[in-house]
Amino acid sequence: MMRTKAIWILILAMALLLTGCTPPHAYAQAESKRDVIVLESGHGAEHGQEVVTLKPAPTPEITPEPTLTPEVTSTPTPMTPSPAPEDAPIAPVNPPQIYDKDGGEKFVYLTFDDGPSKNTEAILEILTQKGVAATFFVIGDNAERYPDKVRAIAAQGSLVANHTQTHKTDEIYKSEEAFLEDINRGRETILSILGEGYPDDLMRFPYGSTNRRCREYRDGVKAAGYRFFDWNALNGDAESGASKRSAQDLYDELVKTVDVQAKKGRDIIILMHDTNSKGNTVTMLPDAIDYLFGLGYTFATLENVPMV
Ligand SMILES: [Zn+2]
Repeated sequence: MMRTKAIWILILAMALLLTGCTPPHAYAQAESKRDVIVLESGHGAEHGQEVVTLKPAPTPEITPEPTLTPEVTSTPTPMTPSPAPEDAPIAPVNPPQIYDKDGGEKFVYLTFDDGPSKNTEAILEILTQKGVAATFFVIGDNAERYPDKVRAIAAQGSLVANHTQTHKTDEIYKSEEAFLEDINRGRETILSILGEGYPDDLMRFPYGSTNRRCREYRDGVKAAGYRFFDWNALNGDAESGASKRSAQDLYDELVKTVDVQAKKGRDIIILMHDTNSKGNTVTMLPDAIDYLFGLGYTFATLENVPMV
């Protein structure tokens, strides 16, 4: 009897042991399975919106990557040729002769060559409206034709400077003597209109002082007591094909060449022209001046700027 009882107890104990061990184990398995299920679909069930956002997200993320790769490869391709045309207008003109060395006030010098012309008054009117002055490198022959315009330039506060008497480069670039004679005549013409004592040492070489036809005259011109300035920006109103350029084209060219110098922290001398055919220069001038003001430049004439 006792033995039978003991057997029953043993069986019961074993049964308890079996049921006692199995359920926790089974539960643990179920729990871990649920965990997996919860992780995979729980967000879907409880935060359906998140899944909608998250699920498509990886797909486009993968898709753009191949699109980005060609973009990255294609970007440097146009970038490489673009600095060339940007520098191109600077290369033919002369290297800048003045710099914003101390990082202080930045100066811009508007210059108008080859006048006076029928556009001179319109240019002066704009300069007055904007409260700025410019430097006019006048041709002596034109100054003699329009002495009142020369006086008007000076009266506006702009500077009249010498751009030779004749601008006939085939003749004046034959020799240094011929050139000096012509710029001396140009100086006399300006003084005859504006009076002795007017600043008379500032001149500009036709086509710039580094032009191969005249660059050897530079020392002689300096020795004769002249200061000369080229330019490091321009609106392109006298470059090849200029007659086909709109006022917008000229503005864009000015902005492009100005930006090159501005990024280098340089003062800027801008070449433009005051001739009868440069109406588009007059048209773009107000916007050009506003753009330069926007860059923080102070407008000045070249009257007291030393040659470097
Ligand atoms: Zn000229």
